[in-house]
Amino acid sequence: MNENEKNEQVLDYEEADIQAEEQRRMRRKKRRKMVAIQRIAFFIFLLIVIAAAVFVALYVLPEGKITPGSWNIFSGGQPQPSQTELVVVEPATETELETAPEPVQTETQPVTEPPVDSAQVASALEEAKLLAAGYDYDGAIAHLQTVAGFESSPEIIAAIADYGKAKNACVAVDVTTVPHIFYHSLINDTDRAFNVDVLGEATVNGMNAWMTTVEEFDKITQTMYDNGYVFVRLRDLVVESTDENGNVSFSPNMNLMLPPDKKPVVLSVDDLSYYHSYEAAGYPDKLIIDENGDVKCHYVTSDGTEHIGDYDVVPRLNTFLEAHPDGAYKGARGLIALTGYNGVFGYRTDADYELREHLMSDQSDWLSAHPEFNRQTEIAEATKIAEALKQEGWEFASHTWGHLSVTNKTADELRIDNEKWVNNVQNIVGPVDTIIFAHGNDIGSWEDYSSDNEKYQYFKSAGYNFFCNVDGSLPYWVQIRSDYVRQGRIDLDGYMLYESSIGETTVIDDMFLASQVFDSRRPTPVIANGES
Ligand SMILES: [Zn+2]
Repeated sequence: MNENEKNEQVLDYEEADIQAEEQRRMRRKKRRKMVAIQRIAFFIFLLIVIAAAVFVALYVLPEGKITPGSWNIFSGGQPQPSQTELVVVEPATETELETAPEPVQTETQPVTEPPVDSAQVASALEEAKLLAAGYDYDGAIAHLQTVAGFESSPEIIAAIADYGKAKNACVAVDVTTVPHIFYHSLINDTDRAFNVDVLGEATVNGMNAWMTTVEEFDKITQTMYDNGYVFVRLRDLVVESTDENGNVSFSPNMNLMLPPDKKPVVLSVDDLSYYHSYEAAGYPDKLIIDENGDVKCHYVTSDGTEHIGDYDVVPRLNTFLEAHPDGAYKGARGLIALTGYNGVFGYRTDADYELREHLMSDQSDWLSAHPEFNRQTEIAEATKIAEALKQEGWEFASHTWGHLSVTNKTADELRIDNEKWVNNVQNIVGPVDTIIFAHGNDIGSWEDYSSDNEKYQYFKSAGYNFFCNVDGSLPYWVQIRSDYVRQGRIDLDGYMLYESSIGETTVIDDMFLASQVFDSRRPTPVIANGES
């Protein structure tokens, strides 16, 4: 071995040493890595054990099942466990104590909560079903969560999941395209309503043009429901906010949510006063509250027998929507537009009856026939009706006290009339912010109400923010401005039904087929009539 070979060998040894060292370093690194992995795995295992322990403590051990939702404020709290129950409860085993570090109850604490009450679950599910039918999914879920221990009821958990899904499937309504339909009182007896000999031709023509028969109403209601229409409130179309000075402002409601196959519609009912002029024409004569607390009609048939029942829009629609709660958004009904000159709901509440001033002949005749008349009694009865109607979801609007043509009146005349409305109608139904103009009038054109519109300024100052006219020529007409909301209404009356049924194109064609609704007992042709 020469010098060079020696040197080469030394180099080889050195290289081998370096390689060995490198391998040792790699092994150390690998070992450290393994140790780290083992530590992480152990840590994860520990976490799982702790989570399991917490789960066992909260949900499995009955004595640990005390959750925020388990204290039911509505049932007055769960019954306290008796002494016997304390004795029969098995103590937690050694293992359970190890895996469940949470403090376990001592014998002096109430230990068991009874399993979730099945009757309570059933009634909560029923109530939630009704809320959800009216598209109030949040309300339905919140209601279910009030049940003590709802987390352990599979039915409630399933219902909450279903309502969450249904809510997510809803879409926002375009509130600027919502139609508004309206009725007057319903004709129950076509023989009387269309009797020219008794009522005269002018009155019969009026009844024929403005009114809807019970049979027509039922067909329209059922068909619109079948076609996906859902009643919403006029105020559901907007978001109303009030500033620190009490000024209200409006913007379109972007969160009026309905299933995609549903179509919102606003409803109003005009002139719910049972005017003296209706007396001979076969209408109910007043609203009453029946033994169940429901608003019904008092109706005397032509043979003189008295009946209590669904003889007009309000109770008839209530009955329909109780059977079909998905026909109304969050329990909405409609706006009842009231005048004051003949009182409201068939009660002679107006001051003129008491003062015996400015009376029309039919008012004087009525007073002569009712010597027992007492205005305060009438007001008290009508107020009970108004309260019951509000409970049922109805809202009120002014229709002006004297059924005025607002277009032809001065701002001062409108003020005098509105003061009468306040003193004779608002005292019964409470304050309102909606005016439904009579005769389909308006206080301006289709263009925005302007700040120099004196009548608009007066109504604003008197608290009105929602204004409605009649426009049977457009499928919808909604004007949402920061300081007011205005909507056109479509009359579902004899004239509209007739025109549509003989093939004229009308705005109701999208809602239902008039030819399948029109009451063949009507005199034809139905002639347009200026009154409404
Ligand atoms: Zn009217």
